[in-house]
Amino acid sequence: MKYVGAHVSASGGVYNAPLNAMKIQAKAFALFTKNQRQWVAKPLDDATINKFKENLKLSGILPKHVLPHDSYLINLGHPEQEKLEKSRTAFIDELERCALLGLEKLNFHPGSHLVKIGKKVTNREELIEKAEYSCLDIVAESMNIAINATKDLDVKLVIENTAGQGSNLGYKFEHLAYIISQIEDKSRVGVCLDTCHTFTAGYDLRTKEAYDITMDAFESIVGFEYLMGMHINDSKPPLGSHVDRHQSLGVGEIGWDAFEFIMNDARIDDIPLILETINEEIWSEEIQALYDLIHIPK
Ligand SMILES: [Zn+2]
Ligand SMILES: [Zn+2]
Repeated sequence: MKYVGAHVSASGGVYNAPLNAMKIQAKAFALFTKNQRQWVAKPLDDATINKFKENLKLSGILPKHVLPHDSYLINLGHPEQEKLEKSRTAFIDELERCALLGLEKLNFHPGSHLVKIGKKVTNREELIEKAEYSCLDIVAESMNIAINATKDLDVKLVIENTAGQGSNLGYKFEHLAYIISQIEDKSRVGVCLDTCHTFTAGYDLRTKEAYDITMDAFESIVGFEYLMGMHINDSKPPLGSHVDRHQSLGVGEIGWDAFEFIMNDARIDDIPLILETINEEIWSEEIQALYDLIHIPK
């Protein structure tokens, strides 16, 4: 079974998110459990938590099909100690908020190394790779700290792949695998593939052949057992552009075929499939269109 939804608004209170998901006939959804552009949020009170759980029940959506996204301010690989600490504290708070809401996953971007390496520098590739892997070490350390600080909570840390814009890490499947290899408690880690990020990072999805090559690479480098969610977006920029700009389904550079492959791929069953496409007015149509792509066995 496929569980498709969208990253819905939680404005006015997190308890509005399940209601917003219902309005678009979603079977899954994503949300921010706090303002994604602010460091601190007021703690979730009991009334808010209960109302969220009630509305979630009403929506018929299961906690495992909800994929909260953390704040954009958090950088678990920050090169400066003070800012790293701030990110780690905020990230642990996000995990606790998910647990309070009865949710099981927290989706986040690995981080950015923020090192500037001039275009003309000799050994540029080598220096970038060095900066990337030492940053990935910091990300993994941050995740181990967060897991240890939330030992009694059953919330998985779900790493999202990125487009590789700027110094953002996680644009190669190898980055995801490298982080996972350093996580002490692997039962607490998963990954989320964003189709736009995958494509602009250089992994093609447009033909069955290209899709199979990309997904086979994912299987052998990371493994589908770690796949805990997907973001379903078309892309404005072309393949391998390392630019992160989402587009509505079918009108971007990826096109409908890729989404048909996904909707008929049994390895992608039972996880949240979340639209982050740019026109929320057509989310309910996009959800329906995705379900219509499923082949009915003859
Ligand atoms: Zn994201
Ligand atoms: Zn995404």
